Amino acid sequence: MTECLWCGETTAQETEKDCYWIMPDGRRSVQILQVPALGCPSCGSYLSDATNQKVEEHLYMCDLSAYADVFSYEDLLKAPVKNLWGSLSSLPD
Ligand SMILES: [Zn+2]
Repeated sequence: MTECLWCGETTAQETEKDCYWIMPDGRRSVQILQVPALGCPSCGSYLSDATNQKVEEHLYMCDLSAYADVFSYEDLLKAPVKNLWGSLSSLPD
């Protein structure tokens, strides 16, 4: 049992959810399976902000060109990090 982030219900449970996501470049949509989620009897199942952010970061940082449009959350975490040296040098710190 865990606490719902939305309504504070204490009977929420950790679960997994299949989610559609638009890649950061907006040109590709992917389905990510088995993303850790919270399931609340009142609110339904949803991702926490932290999980959302983690997915966003990985989609941005990782090279997913070798992946099909459907992959699991675990695969996402194992994806190789893109070589960003070229573009990073132009970003402000
Ligand atoms: Zn709730």
